[in-house]
Amino acid sequence: MTIIAQYLDLKVAIILGTRPEIIKMAPIIRELQRKKINYFIIHSGQHYSYNLDKIFFMQLSLPRPDYRLKVGSTSPGEQTGLIIARTERILKKNRPDIVLVQGDTNTVLGGAIASRKLNIPIGHVEAGLRILTDHCSDFLFAPTKEAQSILLREGISKNKIFLTGNTIVDSVRQNLKNIANLDKLNIIPKKFFLVSLHRQENVDNQTRFKNIMKGLRKIKQEYKMPIIFPIHPRSKKMAKKFNVNFDGIDVIEPVNYLQFLFMQKNAKLVLTDSGGVQEESCILKVPCVTLRDNTERPETLEVGANLLAGDSPDAILSCTKKMLERKEDWKNPFGDGKSALKIIKIIEKKI
Ligand code: UDP
Repeated sequence: MTIIAQYLDLKVAIILGTRPEIIKMAPIIRELQRKKINYFIIHSGQHYSYNLDKIFFMQLSLPRPDYRLKVGSTSPGEQTGLIIARTERILKKNRPDIVLVQGDTNTVLGGAIASRKLNIPIGHVEAGLRILTDHCSDFLFAPTKEAQSILLREGISKNKIFLTGNTIVDSVRQNLKNIANLDKLNIIPKKFFLVSLHRQENVDNQTRFKNIMKGLRKIKQEYKMPIIFPIHPRSKKMAKKFNVNFDGIDVIEPVNYLQFLFMQKNAKLVLTDSGGVQEESCILKVPCVTLRDNTERPETLEVGANLLAGDSPDAILSCTKKMLERKEDWKNPFGDGKSALKIIKIIEKKI
């Protein structure tokens, strides 16, 4: 068990289970370690492959999870149900003073419901983007002013809401200095496009998936530069099922965090349906085109770092052209990279 006793009376449980949760919880775990606060980690097993899970623990020097729920891939309902039941068992045995969850996955929902039923306070990191977990949380750590006002509009008491910034800025800052010694992956800076695509609404929909690939080929024709696509396991599985044509696109296995940061920083432009990647490209001052019809990161649109293209091949090309004409001098709306510090300070004070 990862316990270093100084604040004997404070014990924090971290619940996580997917790639973005590991990346965004890492700064909080580091802050708990730095302050010598008791904590333990519950890993749901929602992501379990080496490429999407273990590599991040290794690279971010995170301690191994204390508990593994091993829920694996099953239907969303069953997965959430298993997470509730198994988390409940652990929390009954090893009762923390607060449970921290991050984002909006089945792990977050399951973890939050189990904690609520046991009357254990819940801290929601990156609150206000989707609001299901927010309504049963006690501490809502809003990443931006926009998220804060969404929570207020939802009728959540302002005493529960704390504007802390997004821990992704902490993560980018902490890891950016480690990319210098990387194997450079044969990349020529600013001479390639980087793609990430994994959302169900895109890759589980044959027409959208194929349209997006058409859009990418249009970019390739126009700019004559490589289009690199580290493919998520879900997208790989669905591409096979739908017989998606990847001609002209450099499809590779998912890369680790440092490699992905390095690729983002050096890309001419990023095309994505990932939430974290929209944030990171905005922080890194790399233009972004989002392959969705809407976004939970409207701040990136407002500051001029991102455009929504949906799945239309023509819109994907025209948004790319527009973004490449813009000056990359937007402001980062996600905070100053001290979010983890602020979150832990609030917990120490209030619990
Ligand atoms: N990422 C990575 N390797 C990859 C693709 C993405 O390390 O091959 C990182 C990326 O830097 C970001 C996070 O994964 O921090 C985003 O996760 P994902 O797109 O799976 O989830 P979302 O942000 O959409 O919830």
